[in-house]
Amino acid sequence: MGEKTKVDVLIVGAGLAGLAAGLTARQRGASVRVIERAPQAERGGNTRFSNGAMRAVYAGVDDVAELVDDLGDAERARADFGSYTREQYYDDLGRVTQYRTDPVMAELLVEESADTMRWLKSQGVGFLPLYEWQFKRPDGKIIFSGGSAVEIRGAGDGASAALFRAAEKAGIEIVYDTKALSLLTEGGTVTGARVRQAGRDIDMPAKAVVLAAGGFEANPEMRTRYLGPGWELAKVRGSRFNTGDGLRMALDAGAMPAGHWSGCHSASWDLNAADANTLEFGTVWKRDDFIYGIMVNAAGERFVDEGSDTRALIYARMGRAILAQPGQVAWQIYDAKAAPLIHGEYRVRQAAKFSGNTLEELAGKLDGIDRRALLATIAAFNKAVQQDVPLDHGNKDGRGTKGLIVPKSNWATVLDEPPFEAWAVTCGITFTFGGVKIDKGGQVIDVDGAPIAGLYAAGEMVGGLFYFNYPGGSGLMSAAVFGRIAGASAAAAS
Ligand SMILES: Cc1cc2nc3c(=O)[nH]c(=O)nc-3n(C[C@H](O)[C@H](O)[C@H](O)COP(=O)(O)OP(=O)(O)OC[C@H]3O[C@@H](n4cnc5c(N)ncnc54)[C@H](O)[C@@H]3O)c2cc1C
Repeated sequence: MGEKTKVDVLIVGAGLAGLAAGLTARQRGASVRVIERAPQAERGGNTRFSNGAMRAVYAGVDDVAELVDDLGDAERARADFGSYTREQYYDDLGRVTQYRTDPVMAELLVEESADTMRWLKSQGVGFLPLYEWQFKRPDGKIIFSGGSAVEIRGAGDGASAALFRAAEKAGIEIVYDTKALSLLTEGGTVTGARVRQAGRDIDMPAKAVVLAAGGFEANPEMRTRYLGPGWELAKVRGSRFNTGDGLRMALDAGAMPAGHWSGCHSASWDLNAADANTLEFGTVWKRDDFIYGIMVNAAGERFVDEGSDTRALIYARMGRAILAQPGQVAWQIYDAKAAPLIHGEYRVRQAAKFSGNTLEELAGKLDGIDRRALLATIAAFNKAVQQDVPLDHGNKDGRGTKGLIVPKSNWATVLDEPPFEAWAVTCGITFTFGGVKIDKGGQVIDVDGAPIAGLYAAGEMVGGLFYFNYPGGSGLMSAAVFGRIAGASAAAAS
């Protein structure tokens, strides 16, 4: 197909949202071209960098078994898979977004989640039980905490590979090293996109355009403009290509901004990580095990409740909390009791890791920290731990601290067993929450409230679903659900 040939549906961005839109449109008979800014070797967007956790409604172990082909008796016995009801999904989404989530979008996300899992499977995406995020009882039994029961086989890389394979098989044209610059319009209708390819600008006509180009997390200028001062100093956890191009193009075409433009998903991230991540390192910089220890800043003080809720419901706001600390740095501190619980990625050679046989020795190795204050903080913390409440990593155990200004609400343990270990962390931004307004069919709404003919959006680019925080596993789900919706509508309109 010549690149100037008019296609039915032109998709900007080859992450999960773009590929879900492309596959759906193709399955409905449309001709589809996907343009991707990255070279082929770096294709896949944030989707490819992701951990692959998926949040979907499920009724019980049989639903998990349907997604995971080889769930044997031993696995069934080892874990209590629980369930995740629609009501729980709405509750979690409501609670973590401070009840600002758009009800129409929330309903689509929740109600379509189970079917979307089956559809992803039908496209070749494999799943595994997500043991990592669950409660672990001392007897070895794994108790699923609800929400994300499965992860994608091969994580983000596996998802990407499967979807590109499906797209190629379906006859979708994918054009790499091709960056969308602006939308083409005729009398208010979007008729294609102007793109830059090998230094040349080309007009690509289409009957409908789906924007799926991610947020602005990899654009320091936009981060500072929208998220606020200091955000230019965050490290990028995912793709370096999500620089807000799709959002700018949509706003230029009159789209209505929606959602939490000063909000984002950001996590605790190793201080040694590069400013923008690369596929070589992927998720090895992840430092999400703070529930097993404490986090302190350069003043030697704790600044956040490390156990306010399950990890999946709090990790996405830890980056912001760390960014607000002096020097945008913090240290996670653990004693030997935590060592078996901490994830493997903490042990990579490149990690900003320190250890000591005494707390004094450890404190002496943490550059820039107020050592005296740190030791006082740990002493006060140890004293405040409610040791009469049993520690139970199989539950939110309510074993908190008593009398501290910054409490730790669950899983509080005394730091007293050498060796002691610390990791220096900073803020890693994952994706931004602000986006454009869409209707139920994924069509972009303009600033006057009218749909823009020929323009659809999906994935990180749509605003209104997430505010302040997000329930882990719902980023990929949102990309898949709204990608499918946009693809179906774009095909119908073409
Ligand atoms: C480290 C990390 C871990 C994560 N883990 C999870 C998880 O376990 N579970 C979960 O639910 N979510 C997770 N997420 C979030 C999840 O990855 C995203 O929400 C989701 O992948 C977004 O999909 P998308 O298709 O909207 O964007 P992307 O996958 O980022 O795709 C956008 C694409 O658009 C392309 N593009 C940008 N500008 C242009 C342009 N001008 N022209 C052409 N193409 C362009 C980009 O190159 C990119 O390929 C994680 C994210 C990161 C970074």
